[in-house]
Amino acid sequence: MTRSVTRIPLYNVEGASRPYRDEVLAALRRVLDSGRYVQGQELASFERELAAYLGVSHVLGVKSGTDAIVLALRALGIGPGDEVITSAFTFYASAEAIAVTGAKPVFGDVDPETLCLSVNACEATLTERTKAVLLVHVFGHCADLDSFVKLCSDRGIGLVEDAAQAIGATWRGRRLGSIGRAAAFSFYPTKNLAALGDAGAVATNDSAVAERIRSLRCHGTDAGGRYLGPGLNSRLDEIQAAALRIGLRRLDKENERRRELARRYDEALSGLYRTPRGASGCTSNFHQYAILSAHRDALAEFLDRQGIETGKYYDLPVHLEPAFRSLGLHLPNTEQAGREVLTLPIRPNLTDADQARIISAVRNFLSV
Ligand SMILES: *Cc1c(COP(=O)(O)O)cnc(C)c1O
Repeated sequence: MTRSVTRIPLYNVEGASRPYRDEVLAALRRVLDSGRYVQGQELASFERELAAYLGVSHVLGVKSGTDAIVLALRALGIGPGDEVITSAFTFYASAEAIAVTGAKPVFGDVDPETLCLSVNACEATLTERTKAVLLVHVFGHCADLDSFVKLCSDRGIGLVEDAAQAIGATWRGRRLGSIGRAAAFSFYPTKNLAALGDAGAVATNDSAVAERIRSLRCHGTDAGGRYLGPGLNSRLDEIQAAALRIGLRRLDKENERRRELARRYDEALSGLYRTPRGASGCTSNFHQYAILSAHRDALAEFLDRQGIETGKYYDLPVHLEPAFRSLGLHLPNTEQAGREVLTLPIRPNLTDADQARIISAVRNFLSV
């Protein structure tokens, strides 16, 4: 018997084959011909369209998801001497962005069901220096947000969402990224809403926060063009904004396809593997579909031999990276997730046939 050797990639960023290629080329031509490449009509339109989609008053396009977190925190007045609580089961940039503001990242352990920050762990790490909680909606799932909203308002601290992976997901019918004082999104090419390079945005309902970010992303200018203090050059350019407007129109349909694939994985694999998921009330966008296995590395190798690519996000949690190792922290649930997590391909262009191949391979592993 010959075995199919076609590889099934974890990501398949559509290049020449993207179905809306002509639409993108037309948008690129429109930007090229406009002669306006920064802070023009495409950015203004994208910001308005994304704000309407999220149900927030302001969206500010910036250069990356990382800058979006830095600017959101700085707009809340966070800097040296302050502490910001977050989780370590995330991409490094969540914690890096806190450190870049001059504040200290404080890591709380995750809830083993959601792999998001546990509200009890968060409460236990509060000090008089705590100025904000940066809540990471990892894989597009979220914790019980009502408990975080209450905790932060009781303590008078800021709630900032790292919604880099969570665009289109909801909590009790409201979009993730519309619930905290501010939220950061990333449009890196592997994210659910993808730019043609680096891009990000901040969403907020707070006009003062929006105005500060508008200034900070443009060198700290005021309305009259005077420089008030150090900001960044972090403007979202017209080409990215034009591409993102096209992606935004397809986002719900693509997220629905991800949810359909997730339902099929659930039906075939639940009972065999534990799978992290959002708290009850969360509708995920399934940026990643993860399973947890005590035999994770053997399973990954077994799948790789059959041409199935998987991911180990986040096998080295952020508190164990060289940058933060000297804190000497031990976060048992986070570290267990790091040892056991395996992410399976889940993307709108994954075919039913490829998913069936993945499912049967993952099931077969248990009988070898
Ligand atoms: C991707 C990501 C970021 C950073 O976004 P960039 O656009 O790559 O700078 C931050 N936090 C999380 C959770 C992410 O997944």
